[in-house]
Amino acid sequence: MTTVRVRFAPSPTGYLHVGGARTALFNWLYARHSDGKFLLRVEDTDKARSTDEHTQVILDGLTWLGLDWDEALVFQGAQITRHQEMADRLLREGKAYLDEGAIRLRVPPGEIAWEDAVHGRISFQGEDIKDFVILRSDRSPLYNFAVVVDDIDMRITHVLRGDDHISNTPKQIAVYRALGAPLPVFGHVPMINGPDGKKLSKRHGATAVGDYQHLGVLPAAMRNFLALLGWSPGGDREILTRDEMIQLFTLEGILKKASVFDTTKLEWMNGQYLSTTPPEELYDLVAGPLAQLGADGDRAHILRAIAAVKTRSRTTLDVARQVAVRLDAKFVELDEKAQQEIAKDPAGYKASLVASVAALQGAEWTTEALEKTLRALAETRGVAAGKIFQPIRIALTGGTVSEPVNELLYVVGKAAALKRLEIAAAAVRV
Ligand code: GLU
Repeated sequence: MTTVRVRFAPSPTGYLHVGGARTALFNWLYARHSDGKFLLRVEDTDKARSTDEHTQVILDGLTWLGLDWDEALVFQGAQITRHQEMADRLLREGKAYLDEGAIRLRVPPGEIAWEDAVHGRISFQGEDIKDFVILRSDRSPLYNFAVVVDDIDMRITHVLRGDDHISNTPKQIAVYRALGAPLPVFGHVPMINGPDGKKLSKRHGATAVGDYQHLGVLPAAMRNFLALLGWSPGGDREILTRDEMIQLFTLEGILKKASVFDTTKLEWMNGQYLSTTPPEELYDLVAGPLAQLGADGDRAHILRAIAAVKTRSRTTLDVARQVAVRLDAKFVELDEKAQQEIAKDPAGYKASLVASVAALQGAEWTTEALEKTLRALAETRGVAAGKIFQPIRIALTGGTVSEPVNELLYVVGKAAALKRLEIAAAAVRV
């Protein structure tokens, strides 16, 4: 059996688009599933628009997503002599002809069809495809020619790429035929749309992989999310490890219809990954944004805070913001809901805080003891525990949702927490 050899062939004329990343991921998954090779070819023949920075951004994006490639990186621009040789060969063999100095491929009449791994049989007529230029008069190759010469040289067995390339495929098949080379399997992966059903674009929000990295998405979550854009592992499981995806990935599992890039789902998925990632692993990702916010704290304190908030966060930036609130009172800002709650009964809010301060002063600062102390206080005052917990939560965080209040108190620390409660109580005018 021949070894599966697939490739991702980005043009370094822009950043790594999520659609490109998804194509790369499918190729990578297929290679790893089949014990094959995943190759990378930088299609930098458009010298005017290709830059080294873009190449670097694309490589960084793939690396961030954990998509490691095999063999040496191929630069299409370095293969130009080879493209020219092949065009000259077709010219000599009469399969191509000169036209104003350019070399044009003769497209014979008759059917050009292939069994697409995603869509089934797709067929064009040679008559409908005009003879096309493969080498310009300045001897630079065109995409539909260079891509085939390179795929043959790299012994590519499966070409998996976006649906937008379907119209190129008959031209490329004509090149394979002219060169007398066997066809690879073609599989065209459906497009990614925005929630409005239109092709995903910047109008829908961030479309660069790097943007999601900077917004605080974890690479494993992004990879999992991208995998489900146009692929179904079967069943309704959505959270899959790298190895599970590799094991389950098949070309048959690629869906025929366009998928929807839903950022709410991405955030949900990222939240799932955040909740299962140990605080130590999140530390470095949170430390940067924390420093940017101007928050200070020792490692142990930051780790405690990460552990407390990560299950209620959607991104690592979100984690950092919540950690900052727990490290330093200057980040506490009363949100609208909190203000409304205080406004309902300012006197009750104040009285509850004052009583809590009194009760907490002598408390042992462990989550168990704090819980007991506050429940006992609620009982003494004859109120529901929430009446004690919620004012503390608001005073310590400025919001109405957080980890359990005993954990929150523990994370903020005794001296800092008592101070915040006292100041909050004093600030209420009744
Ligand atoms: N450079 C082409 C692109 O980025 C490659 C297409 C292909 O995979 O053949 O669209």
